[in-house]
Amino acid sequence: RRSISYLSVIFFCLVFAKVRAQESVPFVEDLLQRMTLEEKIGQLNLPGAGDVVTGQAQNSDIAKKIEEGKVGGLLNLTSVEKIREVQKIAVEKSRLKIPLLFGLDVIHGYKTTFPIPLGLSTSWDMSLIEKTARIAAQEASADGINWTFSPMVDISRDPRWGRVSEGNGEDPYLGSEIAKAMVRGYQGDDLTKNNTIMACVKHFALYGASEAGRDYNTVDMSRIRMYNEYLPPYKAAIDEGVGSVMASFNEIDGIPATGNKWLLTDLLRKQWGFEGFVVTDYTGINEMVAHGMGDLQTSSALALNAGVDMDMVGEGLLNTLPKSLEEGKVTMEQIDNAVRRILKAKYDLGLFDDPYKYCEVKRAQKEIYTQENRDFAREVAAQSMVLLKNENQLLPLKRTGTIALVGPLANTSENMAGTWSVSTEQSKSIALLEGIKEVAGKKVDILYAKGSNLTYDPELEARATMFGKSLNRDQRSDAELLKEALEVAENADVIVAALGEAAEFSGESSSRTNIEIPQVQKDLLNALLKTGKPVVLVLFTGRPLVLKEESKTVPAILNVWFPGSEAGLAISDVLFGDVNPSGKLTATFPQNVGQVPIFYNHKNTGRPLKNKEGKFEKFTSNYIDERNEPVYPFGYGLSYTTFTYENLKLSSDTMREGDTLTVSVDVTNTGDYDGKEVVQLYIRDLVGSVTRPVKELKGFQKVALKKGETKTVSFNLTIDDLKFYNYDLDFVAEPGDFEVFVGGDSSTEQKLGFTLK
Ligand code: BGC
Repeated sequence: RRSISYLSVIFFCLVFAKVRAQESVPFVEDLLQRMTLEEKIGQLNLPGAGDVVTGQAQNSDIAKKIEEGKVGGLLNLTSVEKIREVQKIAVEKSRLKIPLLFGLDVIHGYKTTFPIPLGLSTSWDMSLIEKTARIAAQEASADGINWTFSPMVDISRDPRWGRVSEGNGEDPYLGSEIAKAMVRGYQGDDLTKNNTIMACVKHFALYGASEAGRDYNTVDMSRIRMYNEYLPPYKAAIDEGVGSVMASFNEIDGIPATGNKWLLTDLLRKQWGFEGFVVTDYTGINEMVAHGMGDLQTSSALALNAGVDMDMVGEGLLNTLPKSLEEGKVTMEQIDNAVRRILKAKYDLGLFDDPYKYCEVKRAQKEIYTQENRDFAREVAAQSMVLLKNENQLLPLKRTGTIALVGPLANTSENMAGTWSVSTEQSKSIALLEGIKEVAGKKVDILYAKGSNLTYDPELEARATMFGKSLNRDQRSDAELLKEALEVAENADVIVAALGEAAEFSGESSSRTNIEIPQVQKDLLNALLKTGKPVVLVLFTGRPLVLKEESKTVPAILNVWFPGSEAGLAISDVLFGDVNPSGKLTATFPQNVGQVPIFYNHKNTGRPLKNKEGKFEKFTSNYIDERNEPVYPFGYGLSYTTFTYENLKLSSDTMREGDTLTVSVDVTNTGDYDGKEVVQLYIRDLVGSVTRPVKELKGFQKVALKKGETKTVSFNLTIDDLKFYNYDLDFVAEPGDFEVFVGGDSSTEQKLGFTLK
């Protein structure tokens, strides 16, 4: 009887959900019919909050536009009180009372800040990542935000590009899993709740493949590479139901994405069935003019024709569409479709039922930056850190003796959250010095010296301030700073050097040609190494860095990315072994910037290379002045314990359509600590109608193992895991031989073979 009543509840929920989904169309259609052309075009307009932010909402220029129905949403307005005030103008003063969207870059947390996305990806923990997005949505929605410009899922193989920090690294499979987890986290299972917000997958598409790693630059790529290597994460977000898509700044096949009909209509809507709305990136339409697509009038018409629905900041659509319509350059149907999609998004968010659903001031006070959220941020940050080297088990640190904490990133809370932490209360992020004092315990003495500035070059620092954060240059000379550091080091048993990038050295507009630790900090590091004391490098970075030298000279390296609000505590948790590191790289760390682009899932060349035994082995081209292998490969990361992989087995050596092949391996914790291991499965398709990568990630599991414990880890492979886009861009699996690799990083050679019949 109980199961019958459960069933009827489920049935009613389903019917209700269906009725709501269908009901949305008549509601939107009815509204659409009552709109003037001006009001319709107004819905496509997403201006920056501008002078509304000054608090004089009622009198501002934007307020006037809202009243006139010329605004569909606002960008970058924060604080629930202000949002309430502005929403009130829309729903009380505008003729049709259409509520506004309020969009913000809630990228890795709202006020409680999690590690930068690249750091989140190195946790390889999908439920953890989903929960960060859930908490971000919870906090942002409590502050009035109903739309976030996240997830950013651009695959990148070029660490010169500063925005690798905002993405999930180089792999399309992992990137797709993360894209889905983030969309689920933000949107939840019901967008009409007041703690879920609409996600926006970006930057569509291929933005991470800009030439020479220079932000906003040209992208030129074959279709087959797009489909197999760069497009899957966007598609995954769309399959997961993401509400909106942001067009990227770059061109594709010679046409800026913002005006690219193939991309925004043929691929996105027709092939992939996307039903949400497309927003441009910041002034994306205006930038088409500089790309040489014609004046704003022409570019705006091109964008609408291509499939853009909403115009971020530039007001190109607002100011040009009436004339374009008159001249027959765009049609009424196109405008109506764009408006429909935006109204539908507002409807799906439940804004027509209650435009103030995100505007409860009490919620903001209770739900933002709570201790519970911060505790979780601390946990996630520790899970994201990657132990790159640990000679003679220097780490974890002992809780006795004297530690010299040295470096320009040791005592700087404003650098802890990394890029896109506009809504973080910077001063509240916990610096390493503060965290280490709290976590170390009473028996440890902590000495501190800054040691150096971030760079020798103040001009370079000034250029890296997109968000206007101060880099706090020390007025003392380089020599004075170094002298103080060496004095402090002299009195310590172990040195912890906190070095690397400032928050603004990576992120938007922050491409670098030199991706090493800045020279002044290298000089400091070398001086510290010369003291003969053991040195632990705590590395802050928003991108893979060139660590060729450090990987040889420094005994222990812990890569902490930018860990977020609780940085200092989380780093110290790992340094003292309260948390055993388990992060694994999701982007390759090169020997040298000349190796870039370098990535694990590359193709072979026709040229064999001799291995050490003189046998021809890898088929690849060669440098005469550098090896081919990176310093640290994709998937790499150490633990305080060690793991072995044995007994790799396949349930069969053949697969047919419909079969499930089980791959299993025994993983044993052979060291002295409990720990977690990310077990990775790669395949290789040995012969294909098109060339195939030497390895492709197709599965991973993060398993916890007590010391001495063995677990059998199994993966199921089906024909879908073997599929790829062929020359005709059909998604197929081709019969033939495959290899399956399992191991702790992408360089694993433990493999077995099977044949797809
Ligand atoms: C960035 C986007 C961001 C937008 C709005 C642009 O400059 O490329 O990622 O969402 O600004 O802030």
